[in-house]
Amino acid sequence: MHELGIMFEVIKRVEAVAKQHQVDRVEKIVLQVGEIATVIPHFLRECYPVAVDRTDFVDTELVIEMIPANGCCRQCDIVYHLMKDEGRCPNCHQMNFDELSGREFSIKEIVVAEGGKNGSSPNY
Ligand SMILES: [Zn+2]
Repeated sequence: MHELGIMFEVIKRVEAVAKQHQVDRVEKIVLQVGEIATVIPHFLRECYPVAVDRTDFVDTELVIEMIPANGCCRQCDIVYHLMKDEGRCPNCHQMNFDELSGREFSIKEIVVAEGGKNGSSPNY
C-alpha cells in the first residue's frame, strides 16, 4: 500500500501552496484519480486522516473525482469505456486499443475556506 506515501506527498504540496498564497484554512482538497490508476481511492481515504494528523488540514475535506478509463479501438477508431466488457471494443469486440485516459493522478483543486483569503482555486 503506497497510498500513505502519496497522501503525505499531496499534503506537502497543498501545504506549500497554502503557504505561498498565505491561506489560513483549506476547506477541500480535490484529487483526480483515473479508474485504472495505480492508486486506490479507498486506500487514499483511509490514509487521509493519518496524513493530515497534526497538520492544519485536520478539518479539510478530501474529495476524490474519478476519471473514466477510455480507449480508442485501433481498428474501428471509436472511443469506448475500458471498464465495460473487459475492455473489448463494442463494435469489433477486439482488445486492440490505445489507452486515452484512466491512469491520471493529480491535485485538481484546493478550495480555500471563506475568510481564508484568496477565494480562487486555480489548478496545481
Ligand atoms: Zn473495434
